[in-house]
Amino acid sequence: MTSGDLERPLAGEVGGKTTTALTKAFGMVTVSDLLRHYPRRYAQRGELTDLSTLVEGESVTVLAEIEQVTVRPMKQRRGSIVEAIVTDGKGRLSVTFFNQAWRERELRAGRSGLFSGQVSSFRNKRQLAHPQCLLFPEGVDDDPEATAAFAGVLIPIYPATGSLSSWKIAGAVRMVLDTLGEVADPIPDDLRAAEGLIELTQALRLIHRPADLEDVTAARTRLKFEEAFVLQVVLAQRRQQMMHLSATPRSVIGGPMRTAFDKQLPFVLTAGQDSVSAEIAKDLAGTHPMHRLLQGDVGSGKTIVALRAMLSVVDAGGQAALLAPTEVLAAQHYRSIRALLGPLAERGRLGGADEGTRVALLTGSQRTAQRRVELLDVITGDAGIVVGTHALIQDTVEFRDLALVVVDEQHRFGVEQRAALAAKARDGTRPHVLVMTATPIPRTVAMTVFGDLDISTLSELPAGRTPIATHVISTREQPGHLARAWERVQEEAAQKRRIFVVCPRIGGAGEEDDLDIESGETSISSVLDVAANLARDFPDLRVEMLHGRMSGDEKEDVMARFADISRHDGIDVLVATTVIEVGVDVPDATTMIILDADRFGISQLHQLRGRVGRGSSPGLCLLVTETEGGSPARERLLAVASTTDGFELSKLDLQMRREGDVLGSMQSGRRSSLRLLEVVRDEGIIERARTAAHEVVENDPELILHPALRLAIRALIADEQADFMEKA
Ligand code: ADP
Ligand code: MG
Repeated sequence: MTSGDLERPLAGEVGGKTTTALTKAFGMVTVSDLLRHYPRRYAQRGELTDLSTLVEGESVTVLAEIEQVTVRPMKQRRGSIVEAIVTDGKGRLSVTFFNQAWRERELRAGRSGLFSGQVSSFRNKRQLAHPQCLLFPEGVDDDPEATAAFAGVLIPIYPATGSLSSWKIAGAVRMVLDTLGEVADPIPDDLRAAEGLIELTQALRLIHRPADLEDVTAARTRLKFEEAFVLQVVLAQRRQQMMHLSATPRSVIGGPMRTAFDKQLPFVLTAGQDSVSAEIAKDLAGTHPMHRLLQGDVGSGKTIVALRAMLSVVDAGGQAALLAPTEVLAAQHYRSIRALLGPLAERGRLGGADEGTRVALLTGSQRTAQRRVELLDVITGDAGIVVGTHALIQDTVEFRDLALVVVDEQHRFGVEQRAALAAKARDGTRPHVLVMTATPIPRTVAMTVFGDLDISTLSELPAGRTPIATHVISTREQPGHLARAWERVQEEAAQKRRIFVVCPRIGGAGEEDDLDIESGETSISSVLDVAANLARDFPDLRVEMLHGRMSGDEKEDVMARFADISRHDGIDVLVATTVIEVGVDVPDATTMIILDADRFGISQLHQLRGRVGRGSSPGLCLLVTETEGGSPARERLLAVASTTDGFELSKLDLQMRREGDVLGSMQSGRRSSLRLLEVVRDEGIIERARTAAHEVVENDPELILHPALRLAIRALIADEQADFMEKA
């Protein structure tokens, strides 16, 4: 009996034992789960795998020829080791079996087969220790499994595990495909024709059992487009649902507070800041909630843009909330907003301006009494601007009239959290939402991860910035340079400028980096050690620490003292972990020394470096590393040193990482649905899929005419939710 239902359970198709193995190895439950487990590559019959491409530690399946076989007794125990040396004609790999003397009979020189296991090295030789193997059939009484596995010219090689080989998976796939009926296609016929794509049923057959590489290409092209398309339909539906929500228009052009603020700004807005402000103003005047992403390079002036938007909704009688990912950032936004507003932030207090408002701060570590005061200001509406951490504002705060939510540093803030905020506005309306990213992201990534948002980009930095000079210091090749760097720190401090020293870890007892000790890397700089050493070596410098093990109060206190050098307890040098990575804004900070810089990613380094050179004095960033010249890690550092263009660096960063990491680090979900699509590279596909998705959703919002697409979307959303629940 054939069936085209992909959601039926696997157990009825491939048997209970195989299903259990597939579930255990990959979490597969349905036929779809198995058929969507695509081959990683294809071995060509008669063509051996290039052994020089094997990477130690990876699970591989190679097609190779046996060159020589030896059997020897084990040294420590009873039993024997069978060792086969296999070759691709050039390189060699040792394949060893323990206590399987019978293997000697079948492993004969000249035979070839598939060998599957984890690459390791033993006495400088690369080997697969007790792998699974399947030899190419050569006689009448050969294994039927082998005969089937080698039947095609192209042999699919699946992502496999130690206990579940590629050919076992292939066997299960074959069983399913043999009885697979016509599968309903989520891509509408006309779209499929316009894109020149093959049907789903055919694509599933061809990707698992291709006759030639053209079959593979046709199948992959189609399946890739489907991934992009289904995801874009979900996003288009979300956008459309938001269009049905209503929001209160907040349009006060030339309101008193915003006007007063612009008048007191010490600089001229960039053209980009002006035009993005206009886009936001237009959204705020609408009767549907704004959902806009504001992105721009580090230091491009996103905060001012967001603040002006907040002021205009306050002028219109509403409140604005600013959500930061950490307490340090919330506290800092609070300080800098109050500083920027001056008397405009002190309404009702001595010296406050009548046209102004108040700014409330809400953090988890606040004392109850203080919090009560702030909450009262929020409920009564006396505080027009409320700053806090995501969690806090989401859970407990009641607003008088929440008009605008600004979410800073979005990466950690998903759709679910945004939805949770919706309940905060009045009378069934929704607040407008503006999301700011920490680092710029390439367009297609934005379209995939934030595809349900409109996007505004600040593409220039304010004029008059002296670019940050970045240098890589190798402690191997230039040992003297680090000493020179510490002298530089003293010189800068003597001129009342501030210095960051960044370390990859906090240090001290109980830290979970025993792993590093195991791998011999005991010397990774820690905040505790470096701060102690600096204080000892340079008694004139005022050195403090900032890291995640300090309480919110402690961190705030340190940041305030670092920001204001004129205080008697001011700080010259801040030794910190990446808690300072996002958003920290101290204009007089000119120098940053990043120790063991190779421990950080490209975007992270760029973001860190953005903390200096924000004022008029030139910034200097030193990337200190022990890595070898020419190593990939060193190359990454040189890339960061070579440009200050965040868009360029983020593209490079994403290209160097694996796809799952790209999306995984951005937002929960989404990752599980993308198997073939690469968001950084498949720009054209994503754009076309997006256009098509919008058209479909516009004409058929509930997808009544597209039942197969509706099912695919239901499955995708279920996956995302499962993924989200797992993480939560
Ligand atoms: P980011 O986009 O990284 O959040 P910020 O908004 O923190 O950047 O701005 C960085 C610095 O540049 C701040 O000190 C801010 O006051 C200043 N700034 C913003 N806009 C301008 C401008 N148009 N001209 C000069 N300085 C500006
Ligand atoms: Mg910022």
